[in-house]
Amino acid sequence: MTTQRNLYGLDRGQLELLFQEMGLQAFRGRQIMKWVYHQGIVDFAAMTDLPLKARQWLEEHCCLELPKIHERFLSKDGTVKWLLHVAEGDLVEMVLIPDKGRNTLCVSSQVGCILDCSFCSTGKQGFNGNLTSAEIVGQMAIANAYLAEKSETVTNVVLMGMGEPLLYFDAVLPATNVMMDDHAFGLSKRRVTVSTAGVVPGIKKLQEHTDVSLAISLHAPSDELRNELVPINKKYPIAELMETCRDYVEHLGPARKLVIEYTLMRGVNDQANHAKALAKLLQSLRCKVNLIPFNPFPGSGYERPRDEDIYAFQTTLMQAGFITMVRTTRGDDINAACGQLVGMVEDRTRRQSRYRERLAQQIPAVEVI
Ligand code: SAH
Repeated sequence: MTTQRNLYGLDRGQLELLFQEMGLQAFRGRQIMKWVYHQGIVDFAAMTDLPLKARQWLEEHCCLELPKIHERFLSKDGTVKWLLHVAEGDLVEMVLIPDKGRNTLCVSSQVGCILDCSFCSTGKQGFNGNLTSAEIVGQMAIANAYLAEKSETVTNVVLMGMGEPLLYFDAVLPATNVMMDDHAFGLSKRRVTVSTAGVVPGIKKLQEHTDVSLAISLHAPSDELRNELVPINKKYPIAELMETCRDYVEHLGPARKLVIEYTLMRGVNDQANHAKALAKLLQSLRCKVNLIPFNPFPGSGYERPRDEDIYAFQTTLMQAGFITMVRTTRGDDINAACGQLVGMVEDRTRRQSRYRERLAQQIPAVEVI
């Protein structure tokens, strides 16, 4: 049996190519996008301006499938979190944050995360795999369907959910293309942001193919501290990361800025010396700074900073000329805040190694979920 191709995963160029391969004109790819994203029609038979032959071929070889919703949680502050089924029975989370006329959607790109940043609960769950581009686009389609009931749409997308988007470029590039394409969701490139812990080759590749907005999760002004908090820094240290960022922001053009994210942890990276060193480091980079007070989770070992330290940190950066926002915590009653997304990931790699250990010790394996 051949598996059907999920068309949610294909950007305009890929759809046009698919139609050409079928012996049809490329513009049929654009027609199908309008049916799906503008009219909300997902039944190929109803796409009446496509030739009958094309509709039949599509029904046989393609599908339009969204991740299944496992559960939806509503916060008292209006934040909504979904737990979604993706391939092989895994669950991932996405969060919608309505705020002053904006609807920001925080989407996941992986099941779990391999990077294991010391303060992030997603990393503690291990890594189970990459989402497909259809599963990333599907998150947006689900959130838009929810908002359509209130005659609203998603206005901003951030790839700041579970996972590291730049580790699976082949899914993230078409997905962000669909988000920014006028034939699909049509968001401006300023309103779609890829967030990375600093995967330098991924940033370079992004620059070759797109000009989507970029956020860097920096969290420390020195390699010594960053190695501890964001272990991928050992592979791509700050100087290399900054050089790559400077190139990327040049590529974005003079009217756009990079976003630097900095999670503040009490007594770890929230002191005056850190703020001064950060201002110095960012001196020659066109960027704005988002400060994220640490959101605690059980066993994290870190604490949220004191309010006066957050304020002093922000003041130092603002006095150095940086636009600096402090991110307010949203949806904490439903565990939807930054760094609290865990899905319900069972780390197969660790589970398998536990099995092997048990086998070696001749202890019967008991499945604990
Ligand atoms: N891997 C990507 C995207 C996912 S994390 C990246 O690192 O950018 C999204 C943001 O949430 C990152 O800036 C991350 O550092 C931050 N974050 C993670 N855990 C957090 C926590 N417990 N409290 C506050 N922010 C956190």
